[in-house]
Amino acid sequence: MPELPEVETVRRALEAHLVGRRIVAIQCRCPALRRPVPVPRLEQLVGSTFVAAHRRAKFLLLSLSPATTLLVHLGMTGNLLFGHGDGPHDHVWFGLDQGPPLFYRDPRRFGLIEVLSADEEARCAELAGLGPEPLTPDFSADYLQAQCRGRRRPIKSLLMDNRVVVGVGNIYASESLFQAAIRPTTPAGRISRGRLERLVHAVRAVLEAAIDAGGTTIADYQGTGAGGHFQHQLAVYGRSGKACRVCDAPVHSLVLAGRSTFYCRRCQH
Ligand SMILES: [Zn+2]
Repeated sequence: MPELPEVETVRRALEAHLVGRRIVAIQCRCPALRRPVPVPRLEQLVGSTFVAAHRRAKFLLLSLSPATTLLVHLGMTGNLLFGHGDGPHDHVWFGLDQGPPLFYRDPRRFGLIEVLSADEEARCAELAGLGPEPLTPDFSADYLQAQCRGRRRPIKSLLMDNRVVVGVGNIYASESLFQAAIRPTTPAGRISRGRLERLVHAVRAVLEAAIDAGGTTIADYQGTGAGGHFQHQLAVYGRSGKACRVCDAPVHSLVLAGRSTFYCRRCQH
């Protein structure tokens, strides 16, 4: 499933190659995504120009002129790619005034495409109530300490809660906690200020390294283009029984809140 680094990788590709392009044709071959694609509203975007590519959590917000936003969530297997887009899973196709067309590919069809006015964007349920972005100063040790205070919930579950901080999915939560030497099951309220500072730093470092690597290619997901290669840098995620890269003890795994969780019993306390 694409997580924040993969979505950010797609966003950067769109910012570089889509902004400034005018839509000259639209075709929706299969509207049956998580919710039906609003085909008539989508078709009204012919003639509009892409002016910016933003990201909020794992949502891509593509701003158009005249003022409209194309909201895209990649779901489990979605991707936005440039090229012919004539494959069996290429559901929505945008012809552009220059260069190859843009198309939305999604074999499992859990993604989402919506057309929003400024008012609708402000009221959008998916975007409401989200916590701060992990790569902005709003996600600070002060902020995290306030969120953890008095909480008995395991720190990993708290870190993966979009109301606390967005975009820290399962892979990156495990990796950040390893880097901060904090055991994933530790009750959030018991972690000292100094360790929370380390954790904030680790979350940023892990996400930035993954973005630099173009995201993580796991199972059936590949980011825009050739796919990311951050999976080669993973310290604990998916490495159950293998030697810890720091101390050589076997990496331990358990299921926490329904999610596979990986950690080193010697390095993380
Ligand atoms: Zn270790």
